[in-house]
Amino acid sequence: MVYDIAIIGTGPAGLEAAITAQIRKKSFILFGSKKSSVKVEKAHTILNYLGLPEITGAEMSKAFLNHAASMGVEITEEQITAVYAMGETFALQGAVNMYEAKTVILATGVVMEKPYPNEERLLGRGVSYCATCDAALYKGKTAVVIGSSSKEEEEADLLSEYAAKVYYIPLYKDEVHTKECIEVIREKPIDVIGDRQVEKLKTDQREIETDGVFILRDAVSPGQLVPGLETNGAHVAVNVDMSTSIPGCFAAGDIAGLPYQYIKAAGQGNTAVLSAVNYLNSKAHNNG
Ligand code: FAD
Repeated sequence: MVYDIAIIGTGPAGLEAAITAQIRKKSFILFGSKKSSVKVEKAHTILNYLGLPEITGAEMSKAFLNHAASMGVEITEEQITAVYAMGETFALQGAVNMYEAKTVILATGVVMEKPYPNEERLLGRGVSYCATCDAALYKGKTAVVIGSSSKEEEEADLLSEYAAKVYYIPLYKDEVHTKECIEVIREKPIDVIGDRQVEKLKTDQREIETDGVFILRDAVSPGQLVPGLETNGAHVAVNVDMSTSIPGCFAAGDIAGLPYQYIKAAGQGNTAVLSAVNYLNSKAHNNG
């Protein structure tokens, strides 16, 4: 199936885009987490979201998800690893499946961490961003998983079904609940070491020999997600209607730049999807 709109991200930007796409009766698919976003869930008390005074992040997350569910919005829990512009449509590479859509809305949030110095050079040579995609390549091998949030523990568990040895480095303070065979280490990753292929992970305490390093962040940088997209540092370069340098591709929320605010993210999600609808309608008009 070719969807009218593919929305990547289930924070306020992506969820708002999805409910508006539903109202505008467009076919769409929404990728992200059934828990919305860690950045919503983890916030203590939010004071500046209109109509929801003094709400906790957990309550806000529930309100967003209930609203979306009440309108029949479904969430596909699959990480999108790449989006390719193919002329008339976009191909979206998921961890498991490929998808196709006429327009794309990037609402993935922003990557705060800088990449490790050798990360991009060794990407695809032992550095991976997706355990579901690459676990099978690690049969009998050693892998290190760096997880930015507890949802990555499942990915480490999956990897342990193939690899002989898995280390898990949580970049968060909460207790870790991975399988017993996984060695959890609380060290700070510094860099990935290797000439043509990953050989070691350097931490603040030692060098760990490994065949692969899985760096699992909540989002990848926009330039990696959409090859050829014009970026502005960590952000996507956008116009006021949230269009980007690639026709049919829109961006909203933190990924589209400062300020990082819920209400701005939701507002941009709304603008992005309405612009996508206009784009689809004008294409249909020109073709008809
Ligand atoms: P996010 O909320 O980051 O959501 C992005 C979603 O996309 C995530 O679920 C992520 O897993 C998913 N995703 C990313 N990449 C992919 C992919 N490739 N495939 C599938 N899914 C993907 N703002 C305020 O206005 N007021 C506050 O009081 C406030 N407090 C905050 C407190 C904390 C602790 C933090 C961290 C932030 C706070 N913020 C606050 C900022 C606010 O959280 C962000 O501005 C907002 O969440 C951005 O929304 P978003 O939809 O752009 O992205």
